[in-house]
Amino acid sequence: DVTPAIFKAMMDAVGEQIIAEKNWLSELDGVIGDGDHGVTMEIGWRAVQLALKDAQDDETIESICKRMAKAFLDAVGASSGPLYATAFLRAGTAVSNRLNLDGAGMAEWLIAACQGIRDRGRAEPGDKTMVDAWVPAVEAAAKAAANGGSSLDVLVAARDGSEAGMKATAALESRRGRSAKLGERSVGHIDPGAASTYVTLRAMTAALE
Ligand code: ADP
Ligand code: MG
Ligand code: MG
Repeated sequence: DVTPAIFKAMMDAVGEQIIAEKNWLSELDGVIGDGDHGVTMEIGWRAVQLALKDAQDDETIESICKRMAKAFLDAVGASSGPLYATAFLRAGTAVSNRLNLDGAGMAEWLIAACQGIRDRGRAEPGDKTMVDAWVPAVEAAAKAAANGGSSLDVLVAARDGSEAGMKATAALESRRGRSAKLGERSVGHIDPGAASTYVTLRAMTAALE
């Protein structure tokens, strides 16, 4: 199971992977947005990494998520700032009754994160946003948890769902965020927020492997 200590290490690893993929994320955003997604994600996740260091040893996953949300919101001015802050807050609250995350707990965390992003940003599936990576991820995660999967099984399912969702954004026309201005010229290009979602879930999975 994912203990608070493992969860902290997992989130720190997400930060490392986001930073490693910074140029790719900004390049994707340069094609259909304003080219800063790698930079905004790096700023947000570096703030998260600092906040993780402030967490006490006996802190719950809910409490760690609250710190992450505040750090991300304070650090990031771009559209992804409030989206991820809401995701962390909701995800933490969803697992407030758990000390550690088993497969079911991991799925609850992911489902609530996705719902937070949807409630905050109001993007629908098919709008060509990070939602198009999150939704297939949590659908796969819920299925894996229902089949009795472990936290790793759930994350593997989520990672693979997000990868398929990310790739599928290339065929979509943007209806949200900066890329919506491009209309059909946004077709043929992967959405940067969907790409950072995949990087996030891939790093969370790798932290348990
Ligand atoms: P900005 O567009 O402000 O520069 P970023 O470049 O950090 O912000 O993030 C862009 C990403 O944010 C997009 O690729 C998309 O996935 C996501 N996004 C934008 N608006 C929304 C929304 N309303 N709901 C969900 N995701 C969104
Ligand atoms: Mg941008
Ligand atoms: Mg911007």
